Amino acid sequence: DIPIIYVITPTYYRYVQKAELTRISQTLMLVPNAHWVVIEDSEERTKLVSNLISDSGLKTTHLVAKTPPFEKLKAKDPRWKRHRGVEQRNKALSWLRDNLQLGKDKGFVYFMDDDNAYNVKLFSEIMKIKKVGVWPVGLVGGFNVETPVLDPGTGKVNGYKSGWKPNRPFAIDMAGFAINLDLILENAKANFSYKMEKGFQESQFLSYFTTKENLEPLADNCTKVYVWHTRTEKPVVKSEVSGYEV
Ligand code: UDP
Ligand code: MN
Repeated sequence: DIPIIYVITPTYYRYVQKAELTRISQTLMLVPNAHWVVIEDSEERTKLVSNLISDSGLKTTHLVAKTPPFEKLKAKDPRWKRHRGVEQRNKALSWLRDNLQLGKDKGFVYFMDDDNAYNVKLFSEIMKIKKVGVWPVGLVGGFNVETPVLDPGTGKVNGYKSGWKPNRPFAIDMAGFAINLDLILENAKANFSYKMEKGFQESQFLSYFTTKENLEPLADNCTKVYVWHTRTEKPVVKSEVSGYEV
């Protein structure tokens, strides 16, 4: 059996949601072994997302997990003020642990935010992972690219180029790593948390599974960029034409 790449996508309603999810779903249509786990930040599953994921023809799981109001980013808050996606990613991790079996189900887990841009080559790289794989992420943290830095002698990760706190235990964006499903199932306590210092979610999560020295550098020894931390501009909509779901 070919291992499955479980792709975890938190998503929330705003004008660009359908456009974002269309792009993500059509990227995943090029990945034969993807299983798309979509978690809506809402009370209930919406029609928009239900229809979109069923039209995609992908193997999907559709969950909901609402961010508690006191943790929610306000419209005028800068983005770094709150953790984003915590509730949703944890919900997906519980789903994996409740529905998959260690030893029987084989695969990988990747956090694929709905606003980033992905080269499908990334998914072939993920297939090479033994435990935890890492690679560069374009356009993040004030850098053109954030990347693990390899020791030229050993070829192992010995540091990071990162625009923000490169001395974090793992100065890696959510888009810059994937994990063997076995590790996710073995470490049932590994979760995201609101208690973390902002910007330390990735570091804290990866610490459950591995050490810097054991990271597996992918994408040609971290020389290629296959994912970009793009952000979609918030559109200014001055008038709504009725009868359209945009
Ligand atoms: N997200 C969410 N609820 C929110 C804000 C964000 O579910 O209130 C999702 C969003 O759709 C994305 C992920 O969480 O898939 C990360 O959010 P965002 O891209 O805004 O964060 P950033 O890229 O700035 O870290
Ligand atoms: Mn984003």
